Amino acid sequence: MVLLALKQPEASLVKWVFDQLAEGTYSGEQILSSAREKGLNCSKNNFYTLIRNPIYCGKVIVPKYKNEEAFLAQGLHEPLISETMFFNIQDILNGRKRELGQPISTPEALVLRGFLKCPKCHRSLSGSSSKGKQRHFTYYHCTSACGIRFRSEKVNEAFALELLSYLPRKGYEEIFVETIADAYQNQVGSILDERKSYSKQIQDLNKKIEKARDLLLDNDIDAVDFRAIKNECSEKITIVESKLSELTTKNKAALNIRPIAERAIKNLTDLDLFYENSSVEGKRYLVSCLFPEKMEYDGERYRTLLVNEIAEHIYLKNKELGAKKMEQKSSKKSLPHWGSPTVLISNKFIADLKRMAELDTKMTEYDELGRLMKLRKEREKLIPKVIDKKKKIKVKRKARKVTLKKWVINISDD
Ligand SMILES: [Zn+2]
Repeated sequence: MVLLALKQPEASLVKWVFDQLAEGTYSGEQILSSAREKGLNCSKNNFYTLIRNPIYCGKVIVPKYKNEEAFLAQGLHEPLISETMFFNIQDILNGRKRELGQPISTPEALVLRGFLKCPKCHRSLSGSSSKGKQRHFTYYHCTSACGIRFRSEKVNEAFALELLSYLPRKGYEEIFVETIADAYQNQVGSILDERKSYSKQIQDLNKKIEKARDLLLDNDIDAVDFRAIKNECSEKITIVESKLSELTTKNKAALNIRPIAERAIKNLTDLDLFYENSSVEGKRYLVSCLFPEKMEYDGERYRTLLVNEIAEHIYLKNKELGAKKMEQKSSKKSLPHWGSPTVLISNKFIADLKRMAELDTKMTEYDELGRLMKLRKEREKLIPKVIDKKKKIKVKRKARKVTLKKWVINISDD
């Protein structure tokens, strides 16, 4: 067995790499280069070996031996990431999951490249620029021959407008937090109810055994019957007890949901500001967070197929509130009431809520990444010039050789 202890800071860097890979927003190469900026000393080859090594999720490869095939065994070391995460990442790397993000050098004008689908043939929209007489124009266009093409300016503006529908309606932020916290508490409450019912079942079964023992002592039943009753009850108790312990682990996972909901709602309130003031990388992270599936833009408006659940909840509730306001205006009734809580707390909802709560810190991280990429690009711009110089010298030398040759030929001709 292999004992493996990862040294700091390497371990936290490798963990960071896996986190980025799991996000699926950037390609392995992009992640490697920013990991290098952060201090990871690793060649490209080693990097690809590293991210495919199951050792990081606690497994070791037991090599092929004689007739036995190689297999994965549980190692004795502390895993850096979970097994599920590791195999999810392998799926992403193998292209079985969501495709990796566009190259990091997305121009600002084509910030939504890779997030849009053709409204006509549903293929991915790509982006490019064409030179007009006066200036360059950038377009998002279909990758097929269907002819769909939009001016990128218009598409980007419409998107910034679309974002506004996901901002919690002013004055209702607190109620949004309240609704989510309440719905979650109800769910945790149901766990408590279930637990009570299981405890009661165990008590009843123990009582039944007691009663059988009394009957045995009074000679109302014989020993064989008693044993049968006792065994049956004990078996049932074991089953209920295991259910109860399962519930306990579930309950342990219960979150203090309110601060998470507060942060998520706060971030959604600032969504437009975040988007406006962020680098291309940050913007793209925000888009991928909010819309995990490609959006369709038909020249006028957006059609979103899958939206982050918390954002969608706000979108729908905003609409409802808007409708109520209209109603109120026309009939001059009392204040609009909130209605019954409609949030359905699923694991997906919790994951989406957390994602939204982390949006501000994550975007800062991506902004930083964007800044580094920009710096590198600027540096790279300097390099070709040097090559150009060398090339020019080579060309000059060649030219001189040719003239020399000509001269020699001319002489011999004379
Ligand atoms: Zn198309």
